[in-house]
Amino acid sequence: MLKQPFYAGYYMTQNEYHRLPHVPAIITLDEYKSANKKLEQLEKQYYELKAKTQDNVFIRPICFICNSEMSLKMNTVGTEGYFLCNRKHELVDISIQQLNKVIDEIVTEALNNLNTNELEKKCISFLTSLKKANDQDKTACLQAIRHIEYKLCTTYNLSKPCNEAQKLLEEIRALESKLNNIVQKEQKINECLREINELVRLIQVMLRENLEDHERRLLAKMMIKNLIVHHDYVICELFFHEFFKSEVLT
Ligand SMILES: [Zn+2]
Repeated sequence: MLKQPFYAGYYMTQNEYHRLPHVPAIITLDEYKSANKKLEQLEKQYYELKAKTQDNVFIRPICFICNSEMSLKMNTVGTEGYFLCNRKHELVDISIQQLNKVIDEIVTEALNNLNTNELEKKCISFLTSLKKANDQDKTACLQAIRHIEYKLCTTYNLSKPCNEAQKLLEEIRALESKLNNIVQKEQKINECLREINELVRLIQVMLRENLEDHERRLLAKMMIKNLIVHHDYVICELFFHEFFKSEVLT
C-alpha cells in the first residue's frame, strides 16, 4: 500500500504528484513520501544484504531427504540468511553462520589430517602410469612409421610418383604429427614428475603458515564435494578423501 501514492489521494506522472479529487486521503502526501523513502531504503538494504550473503556462500548445502541443493532465504532485513530445502522438507534448514562454522571446522580438521606422503605417492604413481601408456603409444607410432617407410622403399620406385606411394607418404605425415603430440605429452609428464617434490614441500609450508580467509575458502571449495544437511548434523563428502589420514566428518 505504501508504494502506491493513490492511497494518499494522489497520482503520479513523470515524478510529479497530482491530487486525485475523488479519492479520500488515508495518509497525507508527506506521510506517504517519507514512508515510501523508508521502504526504498529497506528494499535497497535487503538486496545489498542478500548480494553480500550470496557472495559469502560458496558451497551450497544439500537436503538429506531429496538430495537437491537448498536455496538461500533471507530473514527480515538486518539478520542473516539461512538455507532451506525448497522441496517442502521445511525441517531441513541451516543458517549461514552455522554452515560457515561447519566448513571452517572441516578445513581445520582436513589440514591437520592431510597425508602429504600419501599425496606424493599417489601423484607419482598416477604420473608413472601415464608415462607408461604414453611410452607404449610412442613405440607403436614409431613402428608404424618404420613399417610404411620400409614398404615405400621396397615396393615403389620413388622417382616415379604414383597414387599409392603418395597415400603412404600422407600416412607418414599424419603419424609424425601424432608422434609430435606424444613427445610433447612426455615432456609435460616429466616436468610434473620433477615438480611433485616441490609441490609437496610447498603444501607442507602452506599448512604450517596461517591461511588468509580467502585462501581457506578456496581450499574449502577445492576439498568439499558435498555438504548434506540432516536435522541435527551435517555430513561432509570430500574430494581426495584418500589423502586424509582419518575420515573427516562433522
Ligand atoms: Zn529436501
